[in-house]
Amino acid sequence: MGLLDKIKPQAKLVRPADLGFDADGALKIRWDDGQESSFGARYLRANCPCAGCVEEWTGRRMVSEAQLPADIKPRGMTPVGRYAVQIAWGDGHDTGIYSWDYLLKLRGETGTP
Ligand SMILES: [Zn+2]
Repeated sequence: MGLLDKIKPQAKLVRPADLGFDADGALKIRWDDGQESSFGARYLRANCPCAGCVEEWTGRRMVSEAQLPADIKPRGMTPVGRYAVQIAWGDGHDTGIYSWDYLLKLRGETGTP
């Protein structure tokens, strides 16, 4: 690690200030950096990060949005420590743990808000 790395200010960790599902089942997150994200239920289900949805060796995704019901909805979510939520889906799938880091990555990819 060089000198510049040492004097560079630490990047502040961005965390949800508030989150919940809207009437359509989209996950709304208000981040503590002031941004707000909205992830559609089907999009989020298709991007489930669990071992059953992503092939371990290749990182290949085993589910796509097209394979999921258009009207898929979350049944609920459970906090996992201070870093993630576990989301249970209407299709019975409930092993996906969505960490804040992962949701921030999705925020970057989808360009939400
Ligand atoms: Zn999954």
